[in-house]
Amino acid sequence: MLYIVSTPIGNLEDITLRALRILKEVDYIAAEDTRRTGILLHHFEIQTPQISFHSYSSDAKLDKIMAMLHEGKHVALVSDSGTPGISDPGYLLIRRAVEEGIEITPIPGSSACLSALVVSGLPMDKFIFIGFLPVKKGRKTLLEGLNSEKRTIILYEAPHRLQRTLKDLDENGFSDHNLVIARELTKIHETIYRGTVNNLRSNLKNQVLKGEMVLVLHR
Ligand code: SAM
Repeated sequence: MLYIVSTPIGNLEDITLRALRILKEVDYIAAEDTRRTGILLHHFEIQTPQISFHSYSSDAKLDKIMAMLHEGKHVALVSDSGTPGISDPGYLLIRRAVEEGIEITPIPGSSACLSALVVSGLPMDKFIFIGFLPVKKGRKTLLEGLNSEKRTIILYEAPHRLQRTLKDLDENGFSDHNLVIARELTKIHETIYRGTVNNLRSNLKNQVLKGEMVLVLHR
């Protein structure tokens, strides 16, 4: 059985009771970052062994986890934080498990995209999740295709790319879109910036925003 276990995106209190029980009961935890997951496991006194599984993992590593699952072992997949598979390498293992008929079940919990959406105050009845924008190839085409999008748009962004993304949005038809930047959600320095693309771009021009962030846009 493969369990897809959501873990907190910052605040450890956001782990669910079911996630804690599953993490204790499984044979192995396949973790994107064993050091980060180690902190969580240590905090909750969970001793289950970890196997690392990240975007640079070889096919052999994937085969090894699949072999364990075929032997009847129970494996919990966890990512760095949030819900595994959403813009992280968990997808590869989930796809293989589905293809090979392994029983699979989600243990729901935190996800940065939904937390940002609900705090945004922007329409949340219809939305489109883009994840990370391509850094080079396909970036401009994607932005051009999105600027007439009526649904709320959710983007993940790395802090060191924020200024460039604000510039690209501003210069590719999103200038007057409402924008919410949800930074460091659930953490001590949680901050929500609200405005239009153009005014947040100028207000944040001289600031170096650190930490993790999600951008939510609506025209
Ligand atoms: N699977 C994860 C999830 O469901 O939340 C997302 C993984 S993705 C590799 C990491 C991105 O999620 C970050 O670059 C950032 O855009 C967003 N993120 C994660 N934690 C966050 C937080 N506490 N506050 C704001 N954004 C966060």
